[in-house]
Amino acid sequence: MSATPTVTLTPRATRAAKRGRPWFFADDLEQTDAADGDVVQVRSDRSQAMAIGLYAERARIRLRICGGAPPRSATAFEDFLRARLRASISRREALRGPRAGVRLVHAEADGIPGLVVDQYADCAVVQISAAAVEAHRDAIVAALVDELAPRSLVARHDIAVRELEGLGQDVELLHGERQERVEIEEHGVVHGVHPFDGHKTGFYLDQRDTRLAVQRIASGRRVVDLFSYQGGFSLAALSGGATSAIAIDQSASALERASAAASANGFEGLEIRRANAFEALRELRAAGEAFDLVIVDPPPFAKSKREIAGGKRGYRDLNRHALRVLAPDGLLLSCSCSHHVTPPMFEDLLRQAAAGLRFRVMLRQRLLAGADHPACLSLPESEYLKSCLLQRVDLDP
Ligand code: SAH
Repeated sequence: MSATPTVTLTPRATRAAKRGRPWFFADDLEQTDAADGDVVQVRSDRSQAMAIGLYAERARIRLRICGGAPPRSATAFEDFLRARLRASISRREALRGPRAGVRLVHAEADGIPGLVVDQYADCAVVQISAAAVEAHRDAIVAALVDELAPRSLVARHDIAVRELEGLGQDVELLHGERQERVEIEEHGVVHGVHPFDGHKTGFYLDQRDTRLAVQRIASGRRVVDLFSYQGGFSLAALSGGATSAIAIDQSASALERASAAASANGFEGLEIRRANAFEALRELRAAGEAFDLVIVDPPPFAKSKREIAGGKRGYRDLNRHALRVLAPDGLLLSCSCSHHVTPPMFEDLLRQAAAGLRFRVMLRQRLLAGADHPACLSLPESEYLKSCLLQRVDLDP
């Protein structure tokens, strides 16, 4: 008998686990002697030991499977975590560098549900969202300090999902010295990252590949960047030769940071506007303005199943307004980060947004999050970020 608590799956859940599904709900579990926040041995309906799992009694997702051989002790689990961390970091070797911003651990995709680790130059940021992982936080911090020797290690635990696991929300320095701002370099552009108060863990690392795509198509274009945050896309566009960029966001501090970054990079042609993106688009159209590249990267409009209908309406309206400010041959880069809105649903919404316009809309490219944010094929929910690059084509001008 092992000392580890066990969770036994139902026959149906056993089959799903064998196909690689990592998430299980209350009615997937036949029996358990686990307590909230335990690391457990996951057993099949025939009581065969299958994997290591994380158990959370109050959360909707009761059990998250890590894979691996079931551990015999807490120390064995910490050795397992350390090995997973090392492997995950080494998979990102090609993306790493002294000034790089890169996600080192992407939860389920790297076999550590409930753990995200991002590195911004010499600053590492952790985000733990599982009680079973939180219980081994000191071991994770020690492993990261050994592997990365960071100048600072910050916990960004100001995320609501922690409450589901009975964990408090806070932001704290776990190791080293406090750095309010760190610089990273991406595709030749320097971005300022604020690990303590920036969005997410400080920066939208998941749009790295899409910013590169923007840099490559921006030459000679007039750009409007809606939901710009710190102007990530505007800066990429200006570095790629855009003639001008208007960054629009509701956050004054994000826009100030966009301006500062443009100056630091020596880019001219950035204009910032604090506004509601929906209203700003209407005003641009009313003023008869047209753009060669429009970027819309809103926050998730559908954060839960209940919000799907309203969220869909939001995407449809927003994209319709955005298509209407395109100049002939203009490009629209449209992004969605709601995992409840799947890629086919999103494309259908774009199709509806484009219906009845007096020009054709072509789909030029589909884009996903970068290689350091891989989606787990057996967990469709992990494919949250998708973008489409559309083009206005006037067949009969
Ligand atoms: N494109 C950015 C990330 C955008 S995040 C990048 O690559 O870094 C979404 C942004 O939308 C946030 O900065 C938030 O302040 C802003 N936002 C949310 N709702 C808004 C609205 N109705 N109008 C304008 N900005 C909004």
